[in-house]
Amino acid sequence: MSDEDVELEARLEEQEVFEPSDAFVEQANVSDAGIYEEFEEEWPECWEGAADLLDWEESYDQVLDDSNPPFYEWFTDGTLNASTNCIDRHLDERGDEAAIEWVGEPVDEDNVTLTYSDLHEKVNEAAAALRDLGVGEDDVVTMYMPMIPELPIAMLACARIGAPHSVVFAGFSADALATRMNSADSEYLVTCDGYYRRGDPLDHLDKANEGLEGVEHDTDTVVVDRLGRNGDDFGHDLADDQHDWGELMADHEGAEVEPVDRDAEDMLFLMYTSGTTGKPKGVKHTTGGYLSWTAWTSQAVLDIKPEDTYFCSADIGWITGHSYIVYGPLALGTTTMMYEGTPDHPDRDRLWEIVEDYGATQLYTAPTAIRAFMKWGEEYPDQHDLSSLRLLGTVGEPINPRAWKWYYKHIGNEECPVVDTWWQTETGGMMVTTLPGVKDMKPGSAGPPLPGLDVQIVDTNGDEVEPGRAGYLTVNKPWPGMLRTLYKNDERFIEEYWAEYSDTDSSDPDDWVYFPEDGAKIDEDGYITVLGRVDDVLNVSGHRLGTMEIESAIVGVEGVAEAAVVGGDHPVKGEAVYAYVIVEDGQEESDEFRAEIVEAVEDAIGPIARPEQVIFTPELPKTRSGKIMRRLLEDIANGEELGNTSTLRNPEIVEDIRQVVQGD
Ligand code: ATP
Ligand code: MG
Repeated sequence: MSDEDVELEARLEEQEVFEPSDAFVEQANVSDAGIYEEFEEEWPECWEGAADLLDWEESYDQVLDDSNPPFYEWFTDGTLNASTNCIDRHLDERGDEAAIEWVGEPVDEDNVTLTYSDLHEKVNEAAAALRDLGVGEDDVVTMYMPMIPELPIAMLACARIGAPHSVVFAGFSADALATRMNSADSEYLVTCDGYYRRGDPLDHLDKANEGLEGVEHDTDTVVVDRLGRNGDDFGHDLADDQHDWGELMADHEGAEVEPVDRDAEDMLFLMYTSGTTGKPKGVKHTTGGYLSWTAWTSQAVLDIKPEDTYFCSADIGWITGHSYIVYGPLALGTTTMMYEGTPDHPDRDRLWEIVEDYGATQLYTAPTAIRAFMKWGEEYPDQHDLSSLRLLGTVGEPINPRAWKWYYKHIGNEECPVVDTWWQTETGGMMVTTLPGVKDMKPGSAGPPLPGLDVQIVDTNGDEVEPGRAGYLTVNKPWPGMLRTLYKNDERFIEEYWAEYSDTDSSDPDDWVYFPEDGAKIDEDGYITVLGRVDDVLNVSGHRLGTMEIESAIVGVEGVAEAAVVGGDHPVKGEAVYAYVIVEDGQEESDEFRAEIVEAVEDAIGPIARPEQVIFTPELPKTRSGKIMRRLLEDIANGEELGNTSTLRNPEIVEDIRQVVQGD
């Protein structure tokens, strides 16, 4: 490093507040700071602006009907169609522009550009084909597909005919597919023969078929041929109730399907949450509220404009992909990218290669990916011209300041604002984050709630906590993108999200509080730091410590790539802090380094948080969506039998870690 670099590094490390650049603010979709006050004064009418981003068939009567909390209704009696909003209305101006840029696994260079006209054609054909198969309005169609263009095509085809979709992440097991199809009474499945993973063809239909065996009712399946002749090796024959996607599309070539008028409150889709914490929940999202919310947040937070080439690296199998690859960006008529593959194949510069090749203007990714990029080193992004980027975003987990600053510097060249967006499957879209053209950024803190949202950090009694103290995040007013219920289970909906802080006998909306089950703290400026799920809070000698806070202190140590903290039973303290640590390439796993980590925690939080054990490990057990499975690490710390590891991306690592900690 040159002297200049060292100086820069030191300055970055100290800096706690970052202003968006003038160049960004000047062109931002939202740059008027008055929006916060204005939305508060005009609530709930402030959300008319979000609804105005859409084309309505029949305009709505009422912005919000809150007569029966927590079953709120938005934009009542309005009608619209999501596929019209995401495709048809852009045809005149943007028909020849790319709607979707698909970057496939680098096997046969078969990247695909779908213009809005192409997308229109394919969605119509798919809609006609599905309808001919018998799919009617309100029939749930399940999709079990990797990141191939047929996935958004099928989703939008369903939206066109008013059939809610339920997308099951392709990495999930056969069992997970069966559970979700049974729960949703879904009689239709769209899947594919296989796909590529790190260059190798992978059999997917085999897994889908195994899942179908567990489905309790008759089904029709449509199978996309992704592998072409390479898939012949798997020797699949389609059964009588299985149809070839390509043949169906050919049979319906040139078909046009009149979009079905959907009520604003009609279900657009069902999404089962990933189940990090237990039995999957069928989250119901609606047509009017959800689409308004994702369009508005895409515009205000991601700063999307039609001429952008926007890149979100998530999988459409998660809510992030639904809201911010498909619905939000397409509703705004922009070019949205989707890529199939992994960030380290064929090399660790895969994402940067894509950003450069396509001139991506925004990048929206996850902290777990950013920490991996950081571990691999800046030489990978440095090989590429990333100057097309204007804004960066993260979602999925808290991001520690060190990773935030690395992202800001090495990917954004200190010119792009970083939006750290807190939200959930249940909220439909972003909730807590900075408006990038208005607010300063504080690394490690997601930011204030978006305008028009009433978020409080409270204690167990529901009273607001002092700034700086850990509490529970709650949302006190409804918003258009919120889930409406858990599919066919209103009771569990109330129990899971409302019972904790609401007077459930009351019909006054002021008595109803949404509880997302996350811990958080707030600072004097109203910036919120999300600490993680409530069950990730430890009780050490009567002190409540967020695992995230301790992890953040640990990953702040030079040489640490990633960390997970859990509580192990302790005879005196109640719980003791166990820290699992991955070191960066080149860092020695020594006792001196252990001591350095312990000291960093003591400095940042206090001796109370001192880790009892620091365990070096090459990997952490992660769910398929990249979240650390702390429950397993806790079992290991406590010397317990290990529970189910089948939903993990890397189950083999668990036994390795167990041996290190428990011995044989
Ligand atoms: P399940 O609810 O089934 O256990 P999940 O909560 O992992 O699964 P998601 O809805 O995808 O499923 O994740 C939402 C959660 O992710 C939030 O409740 C929060 O804990 C975490 N999260 C998301 N974004 C952020 C962020 N920017 N900062 C901190 N935490 C975040
Ligand atoms: Mg959750």
